[in-house]
Amino acid sequence: MASSDPRPLCALTIAGSDSGGGAGIQADLKTFAAHRVHGLSALAALTAQHTRGVTAVHVPPTAFLRAQIDACFDDFRIGAVKLGMLATAEVIHAVADALDAHRPPRVVLDPVMVATSGAKLLADDALEALRVRLLPLADIVTPNVPEAELLLGRGIHDQAGAEAATGELLQAGARAVLLKGGHLPGDGEMVDCFRDAERIARFRHPRLPVNGHGTGCTLASAIAANLCLGHDLPDACAAAADYVHGALRQACRPGRSEVAVLDHF
Ligand code: PLP
Repeated sequence: MASSDPRPLCALTIAGSDSGGGAGIQADLKTFAAHRVHGLSALAALTAQHTRGVTAVHVPPTAFLRAQIDACFDDFRIGAVKLGMLATAEVIHAVADALDAHRPPRVVLDPVMVATSGAKLLADDALEALRVRLLPLADIVTPNVPEAELLLGRGIHDQAGAEAATGELLQAGARAVLLKGGHLPGDGEMVDCFRDAERIARFRHPRLPVNGHGTGCTLASAIAANLCLGHDLPDACAAAADYVHGALRQACRPGRSEVAVLDHF
């Protein structure tokens, strides 16, 4: 992206806050910093949360969310936007309206629905808004298997089913997909599957015996950071998958549960 503008490309996360610091906005900003990309944030939802679960959720007024997004676009040169927990259909429409107005060069959509702890992070009636408003404006969507199942309305049981699902998500309006394989059976290896209109690629990593929290947030924000650094989309995804694996290898368990948070440094 050649430009005479001296400002560095920044990454903006529009997502939820995790008071436990492992997922959401907190994971996104740590990931941007580890990539040496200046991070901006617009809080779409706030969670009261620790390693054992979510205890409360607050959704600020959408006018205030829009003010945060507009403030970021009014001053910074934004190379990529990462979308995470958006909580409700009303928030999704507000975010889609803001992106229609500002037209950032790249959008990475992590279709956050349910936390690993089981907490619901997206209202039931918001799925259709996500599919209709956000899927078409995202450059890539990064579901895990349960999220892809909800987006497609069918089960995914193995690697072949996952690869077929990436094609179906393109038909449903996504421009590119990175389907995370962590929930699929398989002891030794986990496989993330990338697909766009031209190619399919598989990113393989040894499966680690760690119950990691915030891996999906970290993956999507690492893709956004790599796009700001000039990688093309498949390379940004490959590098992001490596980044999450490395951060998971060094994860620590800061709370009372077995749940681990990633190490970004
Ligand atoms: N909390 C917030 C604010 C999130 O955005 C997310 C993830 O996407 C989570 C919690 C759940 O993270 P995990 O499923 O990795 O535990």
